[in-house]
Amino acid sequence: MTIQLETPSRRGKPPRHLADLSAAERREVVTGVGQPGYRADQLSRHYFGRFTGSPADMTDLPAAVRDRLTTLLLPALLTEQRALTCDDNATRKTVWRLFDGALVESVLMRYPDRVTVCVSSQAGCGMACPFCATGQAGLTRNLSTAEIVDQVVAAARACVAGELAGGPARLSNVVFMGMGEPLANYDALLHAVRRLTTPVPDGLGLAQRHITVSTVGLVPAMRRLVAERLQVTLAVSLHAPDDELRDTLVPINTRWNVAEVLDTAWEFASTTGRRISIEYALIRDVNDQPERAHLLAQLLRGRLAHVNLIPLNPTPGSKWTASRPQSEATFVRILRAAGVSTTVRDTRGREIDAACGQLAASTRPDKPAKATAGSSQR
Ligand code: SAH
Repeated sequence: MTIQLETPSRRGKPPRHLADLSAAERREVVTGVGQPGYRADQLSRHYFGRFTGSPADMTDLPAAVRDRLTTLLLPALLTEQRALTCDDNATRKTVWRLFDGALVESVLMRYPDRVTVCVSSQAGCGMACPFCATGQAGLTRNLSTAEIVDQVVAAARACVAGELAGGPARLSNVVFMGMGEPLANYDALLHAVRRLTTPVPDGLGLAQRHITVSTVGLVPAMRRLVAERLQVTLAVSLHAPDDELRDTLVPINTRWNVAEVLDTAWEFASTTGRRISIEYALIRDVNDQPERAHLLAQLLRGRLAHVNLIPLNPTPGSKWTASRPQSEATFVRILRAAGVSTTVRDTRGREIDAACGQLAASTRPDKPAKATAGSSQR
């Protein structure tokens, strides 16, 4: 399996959507068809504020222009292919079909104090980490800004409609921990973060602090993110404290090693004041030895960091499995004894293949792109 940093060439672009455009660009599109510019704000308010793109809901717009404007600015981007729930309906995975037939997944999780959606930034992934199901099929393509944002809007809509256990809720958190390497699709990711955090009507108005961007450690893109000075959480998928092992678990480590990745993470921490989340999947007899816990502690001691240990989730064809409870407990104890803040992630969605590393919807586009609008999830 080779690493793919560049996206393979693709047949066409996803249809243009208002979430791809700035407020000025949206107005231009609307005035371009002879409508007053404020109609763009009306559409945005429906989409970002009420999570709808359906002409029938837009009673403040003249009936005659609704279809026209929604076709222009709110084309259907995601069609629900399948939805699976578990945890008594507190966790729901949705498989979305994109305009070209590529499939991506997002996972919505309700907790006592928050509702989080885990979204995909690419169809497939080029990073080829051997323990992750998404990495096994390779990269199909980058998602557009709007294809990312629309996953969040769909989640917000499901929340207010009371589709999750516990009744109507507000979506509060977004984690870029679904399919793909978000920093390999930097521009779309960044625009998506802006759309998610700009107040209504130009965005969803979520708090920057409630957004987490997770990366394998693409150092140049991490540096760009530092320069944006966003108050998001940066998660680094480390999985090993030493280059020898990390080269095999996270192959891009051969390009940017542990020291470079962590140095850049500390730059992010010192620039933003935000604690770095260190992701570490515990794999039995692979990376869970006490020596590695000590080595990890040495790297993180005194740093603005928190370790998230993730018991390895099973993936098809992998010989690896989660650590024994005893090794996990020892690993946690060593880190904490060194003063490194550490928790073990309560993994959601294992039984519906929705947990970390299990998102594997076959991502290949089917036949040449069909018409883009048409059936929609709305
Ligand atoms: N490409 C980014 C975003 C994906 S986040 C990244 O790697 O950070 C998904 C998280 O789940 C990553 O930390 C990833 O390493 C972890 N993961 C992948 N496969 C896993 C598995 N089988 N069990 C537990 N965690 C896994």
